[in-house]
Amino acid sequence: MLDIIIYGGKIVDGSGNPWYKADIGIEKGKIVEIGNLRGECADKIIDAQSQIISPGFIDMHSHADLTIPFNPYMDSAIMQGITTTVVGNCGISLAPLNNEKINMMGEYLSQFLPNSLKVEFKWNKFSEYLKWEKNNGVTCNVAHLVGHGTVRIAVMGMDARDPTESELIEMRKLVEESMGSGAFGISTGLIYPPSIYSRTEELIEMAKIVSKYGGIYSSHIRGEGKTLIDAVKEAIKVGEEAHVPVQISHHKAAGRRYWGKTVETLSLMEEARERGVDVTCDVYPYTAGMTSLITLLPPWAHEGGLGRLLERLKSSSDRGKIRDDMVKGLGDWESFVKDYGWENIFVSSVKTEKNRCFEGKNLREICELMRASDEYTTLFDLILEEEGCATMIVFQMSEEDVIRVISNHLSMISTDSWPVRKEGLLAFGKPHPRFYGTHPRIFRKYVREEKKLSLEDAVRKMTSFPAQKLGLKDRGMIKEGFWADIVVFDINKIYDKATYDNPHQYPEGISYVIVNGEIVVENGDLKQILAGKVLSKK
Ligand SMILES: [Zn+2]
Repeated sequence: MLDIIIYGGKIVDGSGNPWYKADIGIEKGKIVEIGNLRGECADKIIDAQSQIISPGFIDMHSHADLTIPFNPYMDSAIMQGITTTVVGNCGISLAPLNNEKINMMGEYLSQFLPNSLKVEFKWNKFSEYLKWEKNNGVTCNVAHLVGHGTVRIAVMGMDARDPTESELIEMRKLVEESMGSGAFGISTGLIYPPSIYSRTEELIEMAKIVSKYGGIYSSHIRGEGKTLIDAVKEAIKVGEEAHVPVQISHHKAAGRRYWGKTVETLSLMEEARERGVDVTCDVYPYTAGMTSLITLLPPWAHEGGLGRLLERLKSSSDRGKIRDDMVKGLGDWESFVKDYGWENIFVSSVKTEKNRCFEGKNLREICELMRASDEYTTLFDLILEEEGCATMIVFQMSEEDVIRVISNHLSMISTDSWPVRKEGLLAFGKPHPRFYGTHPRIFRKYVREEKKLSLEDAVRKMTSFPAQKLGLKDRGMIKEGFWADIVVFDINKIYDKATYDNPHQYPEGISYVIVNGEIVVENGDLKQILAGKVLSKK
């Protein structure tokens, strides 16, 4: 007697091979039989005639850790078929912490989440954090990276300088403890303070620890526009010198002037691979990005933390200097405003009711609505009113680059999102549609409509390829002995409903999602079951 039998579907097994027809038997969380199972009994029978059976999707780049403390059911992730998520990205992880710097860490997170969502830190060490998450429960499997920004805050706060010898030793220790507790690697977010203040040598030192544990170096690189080429080279250099596999996060060419540069970046990756560096990337299928609104300000303005940033915005001399740097640019720092233009920067969430009407509007429109003298004043006043707690969506890419990266054999698919839900506390703002629609959009737009990818290759980029990068040996494929992480969907109906104007919409066409042998989505409905595991690299 099996727990579940899935009858008659077309199995796309994750390897990239063409689909085949077989039944799947699941018992005690694992796939135990694949073949003709007619006549066998099970507690639950799923009829998957004419549907695709795929391994559950592995989201190679997410920020699910930001909202798991408020909603372990992870609605928008599970509903798009994600069964394993990689968190702790862009330099931001929820551990390790230093009690003396805990406020700074809270402020660091507040740039993304509204006031109502303040993480209560019930841990210090990475191991304590993983233990907390395990006890709390999660719906999808979670693989953790340790964030370089978080480590730097714990040791050096938001100081804009190099670490001293003893601080470097302390940072190495924290990375060591995190890797020893089961982290899958380290992440950097080199456009965000405090990671932005670090030199390549510091990153190599951290990555050397990761190398001892067989982890990866995952990087939101130092620039995605003007300095894109150098930034890709820096990421490769870290991998080459520290002997770690490199993952370039949400790869793109941002800013009209730099469109087309992915031709060069992808060949840089190929050349590095010829030298023996395992470099790959991930990508989300949209031409807009999303991050915190304060990312528009130059690096020096963030020194000392959010409190200092807000003080500077109140001082007319600092305000003038911030404005000058944003207009002219500052060294290698990429000024989003200068590169993309106000009309392409949309406010996606704020925390005050007063400014709620600005969600979904660009800064030029908001300037007019506020009757402000210009957009700089609008932005600075808005940041002050929101105390730095606001996010933005920035239209910055060309469709040609997006397609080039998606269809390149070195890319995996990622959402770069935190799970939200249609109602309640997590339904705030107008998040990027990738939060709800990334994986269905790949199938609807790039497989079915535009034929840029085969079904099998799209599935490979969401399953076995990220599993290989992470070193997950029993997930990411439909194979006997593997964990039963499975998605059942109709390739003719799967459809991402989320749009920029109306993002809070679940996709259609996915009938079942199974995590570790437990059905978490049935006939398109989310069942609140904490079926996930906190994964460990060890
Ligand atoms: Zn990022």
